[in-house]
Amino acid sequence: MRWTEQATWLTLLAVMLAVTGLRSAEEKRVAVYGARVNYSLPVEEREKTDYVALPDAVEPLGAISVRVKEDEWRLRFNELECEFKAGQTRGRVGRTKIDLTGPFLLEGQRGYIPLHSLPVLLSRLLESRVDFHSASRRIFIGHVATRFTVEVKKGEGMVLNFSDAVNPTVSTEPGKVHLTFTHEPIVSDTGTFQFMDDKLTPAARFTESNGMAELTIQTNAPVLATFGEGRKTIRIVPAPTEAAEAPAPAVPPAAATPVEPSATAAPGTESPGDAAAAGTVAPHPAYLVVVDAGHGGAERGAALSDSLAEKEVTLAFARKLRAELQTRGMNILMLRDGDSTMSLEQRAEAVNASRAAVYVALHAANLGTGVRVYTSMLPAASTRQQLFVPWEAAQTGHTTASRTLANAVAAEIGKRDLPNAVVAAPVRPLNNLTTAAIAVEISLPGPQIETLNSPGYQQQVAAAIAAGIANAWPQVEALK
Ligand SMILES: [Zn+2]
Repeated sequence: MRWTEQATWLTLLAVMLAVTGLRSAEEKRVAVYGARVNYSLPVEEREKTDYVALPDAVEPLGAISVRVKEDEWRLRFNELECEFKAGQTRGRVGRTKIDLTGPFLLEGQRGYIPLHSLPVLLSRLLESRVDFHSASRRIFIGHVATRFTVEVKKGEGMVLNFSDAVNPTVSTEPGKVHLTFTHEPIVSDTGTFQFMDDKLTPAARFTESNGMAELTIQTNAPVLATFGEGRKTIRIVPAPTEAAEAPAPAVPPAAATPVEPSATAAPGTESPGDAAAAGTVAPHPAYLVVVDAGHGGAERGAALSDSLAEKEVTLAFARKLRAELQTRGMNILMLRDGDSTMSLEQRAEAVNASRAAVYVALHAANLGTGVRVYTSMLPAASTRQQLFVPWEAAQTGHTTASRTLANAVAAEIGKRDLPNAVVAAPVRPLNNLTTAAIAVEISLPGPQIETLNSPGYQQQVAAAIAAGIANAWPQVEALK
C-alpha cells in the first residue's frame, strides 16, 4: 500500500521523546543563527531589561578571551579588542565606539549587555549584516534563512518543502500538529496558509517566539508526520487507521500512530532496502573512517551505573560500527581497540595525521533518550586553502561537511524510529580536526540502564551511523 512509499518514518511519539528536556517552556531565550552555527542562550532580566552574558553570546562564533581590571571589562574576539565599563552605556569595538541601549553590567568576571545591543555588536564583530526579529528574539547573521513552501495534494495530505534540512520537534494536540524549530533559521513572509477545500489539513500557521519558529497545522483526522528528501521534506499524511473510513469526529486527536511494520527495519537487522536506496553510492577505496571509542584506560568516562562505565559501552559500540562500515566497503582506523588511555590531543593528532575522510567519536550517557549527533560550533569558513590553521579552529573549513554528515546520520537514525537530535556544541576534540567530524552520543532506548549495553540496540545505531556515512559520502567528498 502507499504507506510503504515513504522512505522515512518517524512516529510522533518517538520525535516527542527526542526533545523531552531539551528546553523548558518558560525559560526566556534568544536564538542566534549563522551560516553553519546555531545556538540559543538564556536571556536574563536586570532592572526590568533583557540582558545576555556577552562571553556566552559570542563564544560560538570565534576565539575569545576576557580580561577584567576593576570595572573595566575587555574582550578579545579573534583579532578585535572590545572594551566596556561597568555601569556605562558607551563601549568600544576595535577602534569604533558603540552605544548600548542600557548600562554594561559586570557580575564577578561576567559581563552582560542589553539583549537589544547584541545584534549591533555581532554585526561589528563579524563585519556582517545581522537581522534581529526582536519580538521573537531571533538573530540572523548574514543572509542565513531557511524558507519553505506548503502544498496540499488532494487526499494525500500536506507537503512542506524546506530549502535546507530541518529537524523539528513534532507534538500534537487535538486537531493540531506542531512542528517546533529550535535550531533552524526558518523564516516566512506568510503567516497563514489556507487550503479551504482540503478535509485533512485545511490550514497551517507560521509563528515565531522565544527564539523558536513554529508551524502549526490544523488537522481534521489523525495524521503522521514523515520526513524525506534528506529531511528537506515533511509530509503530513493520514494515519493508517480503520477510523479514517468513519465520519471525522468533531475534535479528533492527531494521535501518535504505530508505524507500519513493513516500513521500518526490524531491530538489529539492516534492511537490504538501505543498500538499494544508496545504490548510487560506491564507497571510494580511500574512504577512511576514524572510529574513536570515547574515553578508555584510567579515564573511564561517565559512570552509567554502579557496574557500567562509559568506556566499556563506547568500545563495544565502536567494534559494531567498525563491522558495519566494513560491510559497506570502507577502511577503518580504530583509535583504540582495547582499554587504553588516550588524551584528546593524541586523538586529534592521530586523526589529522591519518588524512581520514570522516571522524566519528562515540559516547554514551545515562540521561536523555535516543541518539544525539554533535558537530563543532565553529562557524564555517574556507580556511582550508591556508597552510596553517589555528589548532583551536582547525575544524572551521570542514564545518559544512560535518553538518552534512551529521544530518545524514540523524536521518538514518530517524528511519529506525529512534529519537535523534543534531546539536552544535563544544564537544572536544571536534574543533581540532581537519576532517568531516561528528560525535555520536547514545543514551537509553528503554528505562533500564543496562539496555544501553544491549547488543541489539548498539547494532541498530551502528547500522544507522554506517548508512548515514555512506549516504553522505558524495557530498562530503565534494566539500573537500
Ligand atoms: Zn563521553
